[in-house]
Amino acid sequence: MILSPTPLHRLDRMSEELGLDLWIKRDDLTGFAFGGNKGRKLEYLMADVLDQDADVVVSCGSTQSNFIRQLGAACSRFHKVCAAATMALPYEDIPPPADAVKAEGGNVILDRLLGIDLRVHPNGTWEELYELAEELAREYEASGKRVYRIPIGGSSPLGAYAFYQAAIEVEKQAPAFDQIVFASSSGSTHTGLAYRHFGSATEVIGIACDPEPEIAEDFARLAGGVDDLAGQGVRLAAKDFHLDFRFVGAGYGVPSEAGEAAIRRLAQAEGIFLDPIYSGKAFAGLIQLAEEKRVGGRVLFWHTGGTPALFA
Ligand SMILES: *Cc1c(COP(=O)(O)O)cnc(C)c1O
Repeated sequence: MILSPTPLHRLDRMSEELGLDLWIKRDDLTGFAFGGNKGRKLEYLMADVLDQDADVVVSCGSTQSNFIRQLGAACSRFHKVCAAATMALPYEDIPPPADAVKAEGGNVILDRLLGIDLRVHPNGTWEELYELAEELAREYEASGKRVYRIPIGGSSPLGAYAFYQAAIEVEKQAPAFDQIVFASSSGSTHTGLAYRHFGSATEVIGIACDPEPEIAEDFARLAGGVDDLAGQGVRLAAKDFHLDFRFVGAGYGVPSEAGEAAIRRLAQAEGIFLDPIYSGKAFAGLIQLAEEKRVGGRVLFWHTGGTPALFA
């Protein structure tokens, strides 16, 4: 489905401004359904859906979920029903901040064009959202359908394995980087990259878009699943995940001032668009890490996509 390898190129102006040799991995250009990192995961997840001969794929996410949009497109491509439980903000602090990204427009328009069975629920917690997805799966099973369940963001071991493979893709495109910086949330991007680079000279730095420090434990468990698939005999612990939580702002799905400034800065320096929920915050993190001299040398910014949320 996706067009790979995705482009990898230098950012000349930003390199000069930040005093780095800065490169970008264009997973905003995965070439399927407006791009984004989820297309990589879906290459493996949809193969499993076909193997299992499922009729319906059920998942969940925020209403502006980039994963649900790309999953819906993948389901169209393989003639599967896509069903998703969503909430504007599956957010622990309820009521959520007023300046959150809108629950209409952006990805939601695309979801409707794709004919996804969208079940939009009032705001609650992540745990409530997972439970609603499970109820949706059981509803389809009760009508005799074979259901394939995908966790939020596509972060199953297969999803993370896709990013182990993506790291290998980059190794074929360019000499090793000193650091790789990107937006991290449900964890399969971070886990696949960290698993591949464990013990190497490349430091893998996830800029967290979710204010939950305990997620590193989940990532470590996910890495165990990747190891079962990749068979490298590498076991990662929570402490092996470098997550920087300083750029989340008011919370998941709430644009931050620094993130908005970073979106404008990259647009005006390089003509490349980021998104307000993930990659903008990640680029804000990269700018500050460069100012603090905590990254240096050859740096790769992994653009994970998400641009439809600019229109929300
Ligand atoms: C999902 C997503 C991420 C985070 O990736 P995970 O593998 O869920 O951690 C980052 N950026 C964008 C644009 C995304 O849609």
